[in-house]
Amino acid sequence: MRVCWIGIGGNLGNSHEVFDVAWDELAPQLDLQLGLRSGIYHTSPVGQHAGDTFSNAVFSLSTTLEPAQLLTRLQAVEISLGRKKNVRWGNRPIDLDLLFVDQMVMDEPSLTIPHRAAWYRRFVIDPLFEVAPALRHPLLNQTITELKVRLSTRPLIIECLDSPPPQSVDLTSRFPDARFVTGGKPASIGFQLSGVPLATTGEGVPIADITNTPGGTNQRITDFLTSVLDEPQRVSDW
Ligand code: AMP
Repeated sequence: MRVCWIGIGGNLGNSHEVFDVAWDELAPQLDLQLGLRSGIYHTSPVGQHAGDTFSNAVFSLSTTLEPAQLLTRLQAVEISLGRKKNVRWGNRPIDLDLLFVDQMVMDEPSLTIPHRAAWYRRFVIDPLFEVAPALRHPLLNQTITELKVRLSTRPLIIECLDSPPPQSVDLTSRFPDARFVTGGKPASIGFQLSGVPLATTGEGVPIADITNTPGGTNQRITDFLTSVLDEPQRVSDW
């Protein structure tokens, strides 16, 4: 059996009810056993078309299914709950992401484990911190607690690994909780818009790979920073 962690989010309809329906669709499936679930958090929307505040949570399950089979099950739940795939990162009743599968690492065109963005999205890290603070990220070799502490530092020192760094966004006024550095100065986290993605810098600073996120340069950077600097609010038990 593998222990898997799933991120669940949405911003259309009553998210608490939608999350319950997703849970109830998975619960009777004989080849998986649902486990823990976090509370529900309100988080800032990420994506040009994302609309209003999102609700997010995480839950665990144990299964003998292969990760690709599990992803297919999760996508079936998304479709049955009315998710349309026409706008990437748009408004949606439900989004299910496969975050972690034990300490497995895989990178295939349709499935990357751990989920590429799991470690830097506060809407994932905060609910995980509630129910799995000792869970370890197998590539970064850091626990969820360590990742949350890293992301919660203010100001957060962020390095752009692209050379030359993009000039066009006024990041400093939009994100006053961040300080931006270039060229190997001490940083807490880095990000990379293009090129061959690195996991960490030589100093062990984790690098967010945003080479394939949707939108133009400004949108991609803004979405990344929104998810990194967000401070989710726990609004209820699930
Ligand atoms: P999104 O619309 O951002 O939820 O992206 C969904 C697409 O990401 C799907 O087509 C998946 O094949 C792909 N994908 C890659 N890795 C993962 C993962 N760990 N969890 C969920 N979707 C993934």
